[in-house]
Amino acid sequence: MKTVIHWFRRDLRITDNTALAWAAEHAENVIPVYVVSDWKKSHGWTGPHRQQFLCESLASLDGNLRSIGSRLVIRQGDAVTELTKLATETGAEAIVFNRDPDPFGRAVEKRLVAEVTGCEVRDFKDVAVFERNEVLTGSGDPYRVYSPYARAWYKLPRPAVTGRLRELKTPDAPGNLPLPTLETWGLAPTGSIVPGGERAARDRLSAFLDNGIESYGAKRNFPAGQTSSRISQDLRYGLLSIRETFQRCETRAVEFGSSGRGSAQKFLNELVWREFYMQILWHYPEVLEHEFNPKYRGMKWPGTESDFQRWCSGETGFPFVDAAMRQLNATGFMHNRTRMVTAMFLTKDLHIDWRRGEQYFMQQLTDGEIASNNGGWQWSAGCGADAAPYFRIQNPWTQTERFDPQGEYIKEWVPELRDVTARLFTKPPDDGRPLAPGYPAPMVDHAVARERTLALFKVTADQAEPDGVR
Ligand code: FAD
Repeated sequence: MKTVIHWFRRDLRITDNTALAWAAEHAENVIPVYVVSDWKKSHGWTGPHRQQFLCESLASLDGNLRSIGSRLVIRQGDAVTELTKLATETGAEAIVFNRDPDPFGRAVEKRLVAEVTGCEVRDFKDVAVFERNEVLTGSGDPYRVYSPYARAWYKLPRPAVTGRLRELKTPDAPGNLPLPTLETWGLAPTGSIVPGGERAARDRLSAFLDNGIESYGAKRNFPAGQTSSRISQDLRYGLLSIRETFQRCETRAVEFGSSGRGSAQKFLNELVWREFYMQILWHYPEVLEHEFNPKYRGMKWPGTESDFQRWCSGETGFPFVDAAMRQLNATGFMHNRTRMVTAMFLTKDLHIDWRRGEQYFMQQLTDGEIASNNGGWQWSAGCGADAAPYFRIQNPWTQTERFDPQGEYIKEWVPELRDVTARLFTKPPDDGRPLAPGYPAPMVDHAVARERTLALFKVTADQAEPDGVR
C-alpha cells in the first residue's frame, strides 16, 4: 500500500505496537494521527490529572515519532469525521487501529467501519494479551470468577513481542493542529502527577524490575512509600505494551529464588486481573449502569451529599481514609489497598451509591480505566464479579492497624496528624474528640454503619426473585 493512517488511541508508543507495526510493514507512508475528543469537555468522568498525563504522553509520542522520521498529526472533534476527512485528504488506502475493549470505544469503531468508504479499515488486538472470546469456559461462556479465568488464561499461547520501530515515513498532512493542552478541555492544572510518555513509563517498569518485583508479594499491601509498580497509567495509555511487560517480568523472575519468583507471580496475576475486568466489561457492558449481581440491582443508597463531599475532600475523621483521598486529590494516584478501604467506606459506612465513587475516581485517577475501575468499585460494594461478599466489610481501624501500623502513610498525607501518636489511628477516639486541632472527629460509628449496611443488602436481596431477577 502507498499510504496508511494509524489511529492512535490507548497505544501511545512506538515499541511493540501491533497496528503501527503492521502499517510500517505494509505501507510506504504512514500517517500517525491522534484525534482529540471534544466530548471530554463536558463528560462527568474527565479530570485534569488524566488529561495532563495524556498531553505529556502525546508530546512524547510526537518526539519519538520525529526521532524515526515521522511526526504525530493532531485532529480534533468527532473521530469518525476526522479520520474520514484525513483519508480523503491524503488518499490513504487504509485506516488501522488497535481495538478498545470498552463500550464507548467499540461504538466509535463500529461507526468508522460503517461510515468510511473507499478505504479499508483494519483493527488489531493490542490492549490485552487475550480479549473478547479468547478465554471462555469449556461450555463457551465467559468466566464470571477470576481464579478459573486465570487458570485458563495461563494455558493459552501468548502473542509474540515485536520490537521498537526504527523508521517511519510520513508525508505532509494538511490541517495539522498543535498538541493539546489542558485548556483544550477547559481544565486547569492541579496536583503533581507522574511524568507521561513512553520513556518515563519504561523507566518506571525497569526500576520496578530492578528493585521492587522481587519483594512485591510481601510489600504490595502497604500503601506507605512505593510498594507496587506504579505502571497502571502506563498500561492505561499503552505507553507500555502488555505483552512486553509480561515477558520482561517473566524473564526477570527466572533470576530469583523461590520467594522472588512467587512475588513475581503475584504481580503477573494482577495483570491478569486487569484482563479479567476487561473481558467482564466486554461481555457484560451493562455493568456500567447496573450491579453485576442481579440480586442487588435497584438497591437504595440513602447516604447524603454532604457526606459524599467530606469523603471526596478527605475530611471523614478516619485517618486512613482521609490520607488516601488526599493522596488521590494531590497526585491522581491511590494505592490499591486504600482504593478498597475508601470504596468500602463510601458504600458500607456512608451508604452512598458506588457509582458516585466510581465517577469521582474516574475524575481524579491518572490511571482511570473504565473496566478496572468499575470492577474495583463493584468488588468493594459487594455486587460485582467475584466480589467480596457484602457481609465482609473492612473495618477502617483494623485496616490501619494491619497496613499502616506506624502511621507513615497517614502522616504523609494528613499534615494535621503528623504529631499524633500512631497508636491513636487504629481505633476510634475514646472520648469521641478529634485527634488534633483542625482535624474532624470520625463522622460515623463503624459498628453502627455496618449493621445498617447488612440490613440494606438483606432488604434488596429479599425483594429479588430466587434467580436474582426483580
Ligand atoms: P500494581 O500492584 O503494581 O499492579 C500492576 C498492574 O496490575 C497495575 O498497574 C494494573 O494494571 C493491574 N492491576 C493491579 N491490581 C488490579 C486490580 N485489582 N484490578 C485490575 N487490574 C489491576 N486500576 C486501574 O488501572 N485503573 C482504575 O481506574 C482502577 N480503579 C480501581 C478502583 C477501585 C475501587 C479498586 C479497588 C481498584 C482499582 N484499580 C484500578 C486496580 C488497582 O488499584 C490499580 O491498578 C493499582 O493500584 C495501580 O497501581 P500499580 O500500578 O502500582 O499496581
